[in-house]
Amino acid sequence: MNARDTGVRETLSSLDELARALRCLPGVGPKAAQRMALHLLQHDRDGAQRLAHALVDATRVVRHCERCNTFTEGSVCALCRSPRRDATQLCVVETPADLLAIEQSGAYRGAYFVLMGHLSPIDGIGPAELGLPLLEQRFSAERFEEIVLATSVTVEGDATAHLVAALAHKHGLKASRIAYGVPVGGELEYIDGGTLARALSGRRQIDTSSGEGGR
Ligand SMILES: [Zn+2]
Repeated sequence: MNARDTGVRETLSSLDELARALRCLPGVGPKAAQRMALHLLQHDRDGAQRLAHALVDATRVVRHCERCNTFTEGSVCALCRSPRRDATQLCVVETPADLLAIEQSGAYRGAYFVLMGHLSPIDGIGPAELGLPLLEQRFSAERFEEIVLATSVTVEGDATAHLVAALAHKHGLKASRIAYGVPVGGELEYIDGGTLARALSGRRQIDTSSGEGGR
């Protein structure tokens, strides 16, 4: 006689668990998560199965490129392997989404390094977390003529760019910072290709010799 109650409770608990899991997505609150969970179960069970399998596969297979730190399935990503890229330029970005945005602008043909974040001491994100030891290895092992700092135009993005520029200067490398066309507080990922192309072509050298607060 309790079997039915138990069944109902189990169903609810799986549904709750699904909604809770969906809340790991950015910008998804309890209401939206519940709506998504109900939608998947009510209207699109095939889609839900595909989603589940894709999530398992991606989390198992996708890892960081040994050279540029972006996401890839092999040890080195296709961009790093391509002989058609200009190996004298290295563009430093915060996220794989920023890398894709720059690629889609078509304004840059060099190599990349993806920090997977920006400096944020409060969150415990320092030079090591941003892969700067790996970046520094590349500075000394490869023959770059220019390091293009394409971190976001935010306080954290600027601080990150300044740190990487100092590292580049230590290795005798020229560092430039994208500036024009990117709005202050702008997240690179959301900027259109034309604006991004202008920002890249209008980059300036960054000076770290004056110490604190270089502009
Ligand atoms: Zn790579």
